[in-house]
Amino acid sequence: MPNKIFGIDLRRPSPQFDSSLADKNASRDSVPDLRQASMDHIKRPTLPGLGGKKHSSHDKKKDKDRSVSKDKHAKERSPAVPKPVKLNMVMESPPALFIDPPQQSSGALISGRLQVLPNVVNMGEVVLTSIVMYLECTTTTKRPVHDRCRECMSNITDLYEWKFLSKPKTFRSIDGLQELPFSHLIPGHIPATTHGHIGSIDYSLHVRAKTNDGKEIEYRRDLIISRALRPTNDKNSVRIFPPTNLTLNVTLPSIIHTIGDFPVQCRMTGITTKRDDTQTRWKLRKLTWRIEEHETVISPACPQHASKVGGEGKGIQHQHDRDIGMDELKQGWKTDFDDGQVEGEWTAAIDMSRNPQCDVEAPNGMKITHNLVLELVIAEEWAPNKKPSQATPTGAARVLRTQFNLNVTSRAGMGISWDDEMPPMYEDVPASPPQYQNDRTSVMEYQGDDLHDDIEGLTLSP
Ligand SMILES: [Zn+2]
Repeated sequence: MPNKIFGIDLRRPSPQFDSSLADKNASRDSVPDLRQASMDHIKRPTLPGLGGKKHSSHDKKKDKDRSVSKDKHAKERSPAVPKPVKLNMVMESPPALFIDPPQQSSGALISGRLQVLPNVVNMGEVVLTSIVMYLECTTTTKRPVHDRCRECMSNITDLYEWKFLSKPKTFRSIDGLQELPFSHLIPGHIPATTHGHIGSIDYSLHVRAKTNDGKEIEYRRDLIISRALRPTNDKNSVRIFPPTNLTLNVTLPSIIHTIGDFPVQCRMTGITTKRDDTQTRWKLRKLTWRIEEHETVISPACPQHASKVGGEGKGIQHQHDRDIGMDELKQGWKTDFDDGQVEGEWTAAIDMSRNPQCDVEAPNGMKITHNLVLELVIAEEWAPNKKPSQATPTGAARVLRTQFNLNVTSRAGMGISWDDEMPPMYEDVPASPPQYQNDRTSVMEYQGDDLHDDIEGLTLSP
C-alpha cells in the first residue's frame, strides 16, 4: 500500500475524521485530502493548450446550467419538439490509443467533423449563436459518500474546449449538411478509459449549440481512450524463503494482456540438503497460481455532503480486491535432486469473463494494479545417498507463498504512436538485475490432506 498517490498522503489522518463514517466493508478506508487531486494538478511538461480545466472554472450558475441541460437532454428524446438543428459527428482518427506510460506517452491525436443539419421545418434557416464542444472526463464511484447522491457519485472535468463560432452563424436548410472540422492532441498523461468494479473513468465529446432564440441542442459521443505499454525484456525475479535454502527464480513477460495467455518460467534451487550418508530434499507436490486485481478509489464528497467526511475537498478511500484467474498444477515440472533443483514452464491467463481491467493510476486516486500470486506446496523426504531413489517421506510439508507485480495493458495492435518518426521521448532503461525481495515471500506449514493419501506412489489424484 503506497503512502502517496499523486502527492496525496493517504495515511494522513484528518482531524475532523469520524472513523464511524468509513465504509465498514473496507478495512483500509481513510479520509485523504483531495484538494490536490484534480485533473489539472498533474505536474508534467505539457504542450501549450493541453492543460485540463475543472468544471469549477465555470461559475456555479453554469455548472447548474450543465446539469439542468442534461435533464433537458433526456426530455428532448421525446419526439414532440423537433430540434432546430440535428448534430452528428464523424471521427476521422483511429481509436485513441496512448503508447507508453503516463510519464512518457506523447498522447493521441483525435480528429473529426461536427455535422450540423438544419431542420427543414424551421422556416429554412436557424441562427446559432454558439457551438461549443467539451472533451469531458467523467469519474464515477459506486460507493458515493452519500447514498444515491448524483453529485457525490460522479465528477465531470473539462479537458479541452472548442468554440466553433466566433460570431452568430446562419444555417440554411438549402445548404444542407455543414461540417465543422476539429482536432486535438489528447495529452498522454491522463488515465485511460477504465470501468472498474467500484470506480470508472470515461471520456466523451459533448457538444452544446445555442440558437438566437435561446434553444439549446446537445450531442454527446463517448471517446474510448486506451493505453498500451511496449513490451521490453522479460522480467527475472528471485525470491528466497528463509529459513530454508530454497530460492525461486521466476521469469515473466514485462507486460501481459487481458486477452490471451502468457508463459511463466519457474526454477527452484536448494531443494536437496546432502549430509555424509543421507540427504533430505523438498519435493514439489502442488503449484497454485492466482491473478489478483486490486482496485482503489477515493470517493469525493459533493459540497452538500462535505460535512460527512470532515470538510470540502476530502473523500473516503475504498478498496476492492478480487481474483481474475487461477489454476492448480500437480505436474509438469522436472525435478533433479542431484542438482538440487526443480523447474518448469506453464501458461497463465486472465479470465476474460471477469471483466478484467488494465492497470491505471489516476490523479483522483483511482488505481488498479495486478499481482501474480504463486503458492508452492513442498513435501520433505529422506533418502540414503547411495540409493537416492529410495526415498521416504518425513511427513513435513510447507507452503511457499510469493507474489509478483503484473503490468496489465491494452494490446497495441496496429496502433503506432503519432510521433513515432520523432526521436524517443524516454531513455531506454536496461533490465535491472534480479532483486531479492524477502518481504514478499512466506513459508507456512502445509495443512492439506491431499499429500498423505498416496504419497508413497508419488502420484497425486486430483
Ligand atoms: Zn452528495
